[in-house]
Amino acid sequence: MAEYVAGHEYVREPNGLLETGAVVETHRHNFFHNTHLKKGYWEVHRFEPLLGTDLVQVTGNDQKPLWRPLPLLRVHGGGPRSIVPIPGNMQHKFVLLDGPGFYSCNFCHRHPDGTISETFTGWLDAYR
Ligand SMILES: [Zn+2]
Repeated sequence: MAEYVAGHEYVREPNGLLETGAVVETHRHNFFHNTHLKKGYWEVHRFEPLLGTDLVQVTGNDQKPLWRPLPLLRVHGGGPRSIVPIPGNMQHKFVLLDGPGFYSCNFCHRHPDGTISETFTGWLDAYR
């Protein structure tokens, strides 16, 4: 993975082209970001948390939110509408159906209170 500051954005992307079948496993971030699907044909899985006492799975002493899948997206990288907005705390997963493929995740810079900054502040939780 490569990570770098590009002006008003922080970018995370693979080190090279990905092959058919590559999977970016399910994960989530603290804040909103845009995923730019730049090359390849992708399937995008998104799950939003269901919050509230009735919507929490309890296993022993652990409580976990349940997740509701959103409609599956299929996106041609580099084509129209190939930028996928991912809200903060939304689980997401990308599957490359037809490679080679490439993508980047572009985050806003933020201050430690979560507000957006036009410039890099050094607060790396903004990108996790
Ligand atoms: Zn992500």
